[in-house]
Amino acid sequence: MSQTKGIYIAGRWEDGAGLIENRNPSDLSDVIGTYGQANAAQLDEALHAARKAQPLWWAAGIQKRHDVLMAIGTELMTRAEEIGTIVSREEGKPLAEGKGEVYRAGQFFTYFAAEVLRNQGDLAESVRPGIEIDVRREPVGVVAIVSPWNFPVATPAWKIAPALAFGNAVVWKPANLTPASAVALTEIIAKQDIPAGLFNLVSGPGRDVGQRLVESRDVDAISFTGSVPVGRGIAAAAIQNMTKVQMEMGSKNPMIIMDDADLDLAVAHASGAAFGGTGQKCTAASRLIVHEAIHDAFVEKLVQAAQALTVGHALEAGTQIGPVVSEGQLKQNLDYVDVGKGEGAELLCGGDRLNRPTEGYYMAPTVFAGTRNDMRMNREEMFAPITCVMKAGSYDEALAIANDSEFGLTAGIMTKSLARASHFRANMRAGCVMVNLPTAGTDYHVPFGGRGASSYGPREQGRYAAEFYTTVKTAYVGAGSPE
Ligand code: NDP
Repeated sequence: MSQTKGIYIAGRWEDGAGLIENRNPSDLSDVIGTYGQANAAQLDEALHAARKAQPLWWAAGIQKRHDVLMAIGTELMTRAEEIGTIVSREEGKPLAEGKGEVYRAGQFFTYFAAEVLRNQGDLAESVRPGIEIDVRREPVGVVAIVSPWNFPVATPAWKIAPALAFGNAVVWKPANLTPASAVALTEIIAKQDIPAGLFNLVSGPGRDVGQRLVESRDVDAISFTGSVPVGRGIAAAAIQNMTKVQMEMGSKNPMIIMDDADLDLAVAHASGAAFGGTGQKCTAASRLIVHEAIHDAFVEKLVQAAQALTVGHALEAGTQIGPVVSEGQLKQNLDYVDVGKGEGAELLCGGDRLNRPTEGYYMAPTVFAGTRNDMRMNREEMFAPITCVMKAGSYDEALAIANDSEFGLTAGIMTKSLARASHFRANMRAGCVMVNLPTAGTDYHVPFGGRGASSYGPREQGRYAAEFYTTVKTAYVGAGSPE
């Protein structure tokens, strides 16, 4: 089988030292392609090229950077259906979600095109007469981006766009499960009139290419999204080299359903946030904390909603839930079902692999009730179409359960009480709090991130992204000696 692209360095596509095969999780007989894997020499070449290109890009000025980002964003939006089909084919999300993701990726670029023009500094008086002070944001330099498979275009977009907007060069290591999406995004960036080496794609195994990239002394900043264990390793590597680091990792997002909530709306939001994207979202609602007064009614309706979802081929009309991304992820999900049963949780629906006309990694949306917050399934990120219901006797108890987690990315409450909603917003330990909304679903122009083990370092997205992708320089200017 011929090799598809996978490596783009110094303005050229290169063959890989190794190859991986990419199959459609909705239909294992559908081979999407084989993709090149970079070796150590290619990674070093990419880092060298990035270092050379970065000052040229910064010197090109704000109009140029604005125009390039605008062009990338516009093309992504225009081709959302075509590239969204690639995303859905290799990641497994339904086409509407794949298309929506690519459109959103375009919005990140157009948003940051405008941020290029807004990069203004400060002027200050000096406490010493005759001296002027100005404070400017400058690029950090070479940014390493390591991204996951669950949003294979949007996540890299919300990292690459601000990196380029603020004048940095990029070396990107995408997830090996979604190489076609990485190539599609790279092709659009490669079309632009930018210095060779400004943007580099180095596909390859995380434990090899990814590890070497994050350990490199030639990297000035690392932006990572993925699992907590890999994140811990990246943080340790970054500290060794004093490299700036930003990480988004797992979560166990709670959603509190109070006794005054609109029950149907609560069920719709809980089901959407738990099972959307096959539960493979860092913002998925995986802990549903339900007031005892409405617990039984809520659970009955939630099970009905879960069972009514259409699980199928990602590209088939009518599919609401696609397959799990990989065999390994499906096995891990089914193992968690066994863990839940072993811990005494009550399996109300799902929990099994499904057969469909094409062979794929299909899993039934799964609801567990009678769970406790100390169970493994309520402590560990499963990244699965599995949600766990817990009963609470009061709002205070529900909030205490919600806050009892090492994670803190998103959290939601369903209530009609303004007082409770306000208390929740102030006292929930999470980076994003949602009132009468699902835990998943965020905007592109405001910061995104969490607390605890969910995030580390400055926030991503919106104007807060400048904190990570720039470094601040304070200049003191004296009058000099009079002529
Ligand atoms: P990983 O954290 O292993 O992968 C994320 C990215 O890091 C991928 O590009 C991966 O490459 C790369 N990587 C892996 N190991 C290293 C390393 N040692 N040094 C540098 N980079 C590395 O997550 P997985 O994709 O394996 O998913 C495992 C679990 O992680 C999921 O079940 C889920 O719980 C969680 N996860 C959370 C996400 C989130 O958004 N919160 C996103 C994805 C996963 P490669 O693809 O080649 O392995």
